[in-house]
Amino acid sequence: MKKNYRHTKVVFTLGPATAEEDIIKKLVLEGVDICRLNMAHSAHQWVKEKVTLIRKCCKEVRREIAFMMDIKGPEIRSGVLEEPITLSPGDFFTFFMNKESRENSNEQGVDVNYPCLVDDIKVGSTVLVDSGLIQMTAIEKSANALRCQVVTPGEMSSKRHINLPGTHVQMDSLTQKDKDDLDVGIELGLDFYALSFVRDAESVDLLRNYIIQKGSNAKIISKIEEQSGIGNIDEIIKTSDSIMIARGDLGIECPYDEIPIIQQNIINKCIQKGKPVIVATHMLESMITNPIPTRSEVSDVATAVVQHADCIMLSGESSVGKYPLECVKVMNRISLRMEESATVQYTHNLKLKTAKEKMLRSAVQLAADIGKTGILVFTRNGRLPKTLSQLRPKGCPIYAFTNNERVFRRMLIMWGIEPFLLPFDDDDYQDTIAKSFGVLLKAGWVKEVDLMVVVTNVLIEGKKIVDTVQLRPASEGLMLSREQAEISEEQNI
Ligand code: PEP
Repeated sequence: MKKNYRHTKVVFTLGPATAEEDIIKKLVLEGVDICRLNMAHSAHQWVKEKVTLIRKCCKEVRREIAFMMDIKGPEIRSGVLEEPITLSPGDFFTFFMNKESRENSNEQGVDVNYPCLVDDIKVGSTVLVDSGLIQMTAIEKSANALRCQVVTPGEMSSKRHINLPGTHVQMDSLTQKDKDDLDVGIELGLDFYALSFVRDAESVDLLRNYIIQKGSNAKIISKIEEQSGIGNIDEIIKTSDSIMIARGDLGIECPYDEIPIIQQNIINKCIQKGKPVIVATHMLESMITNPIPTRSEVSDVATAVVQHADCIMLSGESSVGKYPLECVKVMNRISLRMEESATVQYTHNLKLKTAKEKMLRSAVQLAADIGKTGILVFTRNGRLPKTLSQLRPKGCPIYAFTNNERVFRRMLIMWGIEPFLLPFDDDDYQDTIAKSFGVLLKAGWVKEVDLMVVVTNVLIEGKKIVDTVQLRPASEGLMLSREQAEISEEQNI
């Protein structure tokens, strides 16, 4: 295995701080795996230009990353204020259900983007503005206005995010803006769509049906960030391809002391179900302005790594922060140290159903017994690597070779998977294995003396396909002709 190989994947959020060629290349070379496009702040033309630029940078540095478009879902936002309003405890503030009601009133307030807010909320409920910085209580409702009283002071400015903890919001799971954003993502052929404020399995189905109808089979990441999502977590995990623990809003919508428990529970459930899970938000928040993390941030990243999350994520740290590259280096360093310190060899309590999955556990056990090895797996759809990743084999990279570019990118979200793109020779599996070893040797992943665990199916006497786990020396890659080796290298993206 290469020195400094990190099993935990890193997602970074693109923003003004990371939108130029020089920093993008540095981030890709430093090992980021997925670029997140946050559609709360990104214009369509900007997204198109940046995706094209990042793809070009990846080609130039010969390392590919995947793209995740994060659509906002049912998010309530306030409208535009000409001037920010300073609110003190006891002040009254009104949310108007449309612009006309606001214009016809002389009460202090602002319009909102969700006209049914007044129907959903009960008098006495809490209204939180700007990530919970301003707290208000709903005191009175009329047809077009919700009157609130300020509890925690703050400055109310334009287009603030509003949370209603404990209120079941009836807003559509997929808004027209989401659909417009998705159309751009589909046109660009992005790999993952993250849906905000997922409340139930139906929300996931809605998104799935929309993208399928538009011709995309990209993977869906459900963002868990409010109470209904927690209550329906099992059905959401079942319907989604991946989960994001979006701790920013989650910490506002739920009591914050519940967050560590929710995080641990969701990670455990996702590992059991084989659904990649991302821990997001505030991981290195102080590094938006400081070059080094706080001790508690180090512990937070370390906890997510020890809990075996597939991915850790940077938000403001990489989109607007002063030290995006340093943040990735910090994540690398903490991940490497914590992965090395793990005390278990692999997930022993994984409930595997099929014989094939159990065979993969044997491959992992074999790799653990041999030590200092890696698992080589061939896949057309990413299923075998998914189970191998679920097993979380300590210190053992899973080299997943696929002939499908989409599958290649989708594996970038999975813990411990190092994907490679290679054409398969259906008539000569020995040749495909040798080429794969050639790729790994040339890129310095393995040494000639290494003994590798190979998971593949082989065609016996031209008629029978048999699943196998084999032990093979990496030196088999040396038997390639010079011409073959060059082809292999070309495909090692
Ligand atoms: C979050 O709330 O943690 C999150 C990732 O969502 P967003 O940044 O889209 O608000």
